Amino acid sequence: MNFTCSICGGEHSLDEVSFGSNAPLQWRLLSDAERSQSFLSDEQCEIESHEGRSFYIRACLVLPIQESSRTFTWGVWCSLSEASYTEMAQYWEDPARTKRGPYFGWLCTSIPGYPETAFLKSLVHQREVGLRPLVELEATDHPLALDQKNGIQESRLREIVNKLIHNGDQ
Ligand SMILES: [Zn+2]
Repeated sequence: MNFTCSICGGEHSLDEVSFGSNAPLQWRLLSDAERSQSFLSDEQCEIESHEGRSFYIRACLVLPIQESSRTFTWGVWCSLSEASYTEMAQYWEDPARTKRGPYFGWLCTSIPGYPETAFLKSLVHQREVGLRPLVELEATDHPLALDQKNGIQESRLREIVNKLIHNGDQ
């Protein structure tokens, strides 16, 4: 579904775009030494710092779009306990993995267009093999949690997406 962009006047589509972060936000705070002892893949991350080792998983945060049957997905990271992280890894290829969890996680991605979203509490639900897990935010009055519960206004989503598309233009 195309719409006219308020920034460039061109056409964009919410269905074509999805946005994600390539690492939990803690990753860029690491020193070179810490980073060399840490691990980052497309789906998993382990960070070794002076505070010890911490564990992260890549996941999807899905927002329903109001007055439509469509959704918009943010690619995010959540921190997990070592036990949860280990269990997810252990059953990664197991079709029955959907019966495990959900796992408590802290959101570790700053989503644009909202007050700080990092460290919102969430539950991480494993999905069938091949799909990234789903993030369910704790029901609070944070605007992102409200948007996940009630849906985001399409006009507001377009505004956020337009800014992201044109982020590198200036
Ligand atoms: Zn545009």
